[in-house]
Amino acid sequence: MLDIRITGGRVADIKNRQLKNADVGVKDGKIVQIGTDLPEAAETVDAAGQVVSPGFIDIHMHEEDFSITQKKGWDIAECMLRMGVTTAVGGNCGSNRQQPSEMEDLMRLQGGPVNYLFFIGHNFLRDLVGNRDTRAASTPEQIEQMARRVKDAVDEGAIGVSYGIEYARGMTYEEELGVCRYILGRDDLLLSAHYRRDAAGALPSIDEMAGLCRDTGIPFQISHLSSCSAYGNMREALDLIQKYRDSGLDVLADSYPYAAFSTSIGSDVFAPGCLEWIGADYGDIELTDAPYEHVRCTKEIFEDARKNYPEMYVVAHVMREEEIAMALAHPLVMTASDGLYRSHKGHPRGAGTFPRFLGKYVREEKLCDFFTGLEKITAMPAKRLRLDSRKGYLEEGYDADITIFDPETILDKATFADPQLAPEGISRVILNGKTALIGQTIVNGGCGRYIRRP
Ligand SMILES: [Zn+2]
Repeated sequence: MLDIRITGGRVADIKNRQLKNADVGVKDGKIVQIGTDLPEAAETVDAAGQVVSPGFIDIHMHEEDFSITQKKGWDIAECMLRMGVTTAVGGNCGSNRQQPSEMEDLMRLQGGPVNYLFFIGHNFLRDLVGNRDTRAASTPEQIEQMARRVKDAVDEGAIGVSYGIEYARGMTYEEELGVCRYILGRDDLLLSAHYRRDAAGALPSIDEMAGLCRDTGIPFQISHLSSCSAYGNMREALDLIQKYRDSGLDVLADSYPYAAFSTSIGSDVFAPGCLEWIGADYGDIELTDAPYEHVRCTKEIFEDARKNYPEMYVVAHVMREEEIAMALAHPLVMTASDGLYRSHKGHPRGAGTFPRFLGKYVREEKLCDFFTGLEKITAMPAKRLRLDSRKGYLEEGYDADITIFDPETILDKATFADPQLAPEGISRVILNGKTALIGQTIVNGGCGRYIRRP
C-alpha cells in the first residue's frame, strides 16, 4: 500500500526532455514507482492536465530572522512552499540571520515548511569576531578566527562560504581567501558572493569572484547576477563568466526574474554616490515599511530612512528588463529568488520567482523551452548542491519532493504592494513524502527538514 498515488498527470522527465503520462507512487518519503497499474494508496491525488514536477530548488534566498519571528511561525519559508519550492538555501550574501545550528535545532523539533541548507556567511562571521566596521579590513587574528569558524561550520554541514562583498567593502581579497584557508581544494563545497560593485564595477567584480574560485579550488556561484549587471553590461558579464567557465573554472550564476533589487536602506549599497553610479533617481527607490510603506523616495526621505530606519528593506526599480531576460536565458545561469522579508515586508520575488519564471518568461515570452526552464529550477540547482542523486529529478528512488502545477496557468501574483501574495497554478506540493500544500493552503507546515551537506 502506497502513501500517495498521483494519477493522470504528465510526469516531467527532465533527462529525456519529455512529459510522460504516468502515475507516481510515494511511500516512506520516496518516489517508489512511476508507471501504470500502481497499488492502492492511503491518499490519491488527481493530477489530470497538470505537470508532475520535481519540487523547485531555490539556491539563493534569505532565511527568517529568529530575533523577529521568535521561532513562532515562519515568514519566507511559507512563501517558498506556496510557490512550489521544496528545498531552499539560506545564509547567502555573507549574511546568516542566526547560527545555522539554531535552525537545525528548531527543525529537528518541529520541521519546517521547506527543506533548508545553509552557507556560513563571511559578513556574519566578521560581526562575530568583532569587526563591525564595514570599511575596515579584518586583522590577521580576526581572519584566523573566521577561518576556524568556517571549518567548524562546514564540519557541521554548511555547504560552504557566502560573501557579501558590497556590504563590507573594506574586505580585501586576502581576507576573502584567508577565511577559506582550512577548506582549500574542497571541491565538494561551494562559495557564493554578492559582488563587490554593480554596474560599471560588474566586470572587475566577476574577475574577483573567478579569482577566488581559482585560488581556493572551490566551485563558485555568482549570486543574483541581474542586480550586478543589468545596467548596461549584461552581455559582457555573461561572456566573461563563459570565458572563465571555458578556461576550466567551475563558475556558475543565479538570477531572479525582476527588474528591481532589494536590500536594507542602511546598507553600504546605498553609500553616497550610489544613485549616480547606477544612473538612478531617488524616486526609483521604494520604501517598504512604516512610516514610509510604499513611498517613493525624495532626497529628504531617503536620508531620513537611512538614518532612522536603516534595517528597512527597500525596492530599487533600477534595472533593465531586457537584460534580466538575457541573464535568465543563459545556459550558465539558474533561477533563484534572493527572497528577503522582514516581518512579511519586502520584495515580491520571495513569493513569486518560480511561478513568474515559468509563467511570464518561459510560457509567455518563450525565453527558453519548457524543459530548459524547468531544469533551471530543479536539476541544475540540485546538481550545484550535490543533491542530484536524490533531488532535482522525478525518478524512482528519489526523495518525494514533488510540485504539481498547470503549465498553462502558473503565474506569480505577489506585487510590490502586496509582496507575499500566493501564486496561481500550483495545485499541490508533496514534501518528503507528505502533502504539504493544497492549492494556496499549507496543510502541513512541518514536512521540511534541515539538510546537512551531503
Ligand atoms: Zn545579495
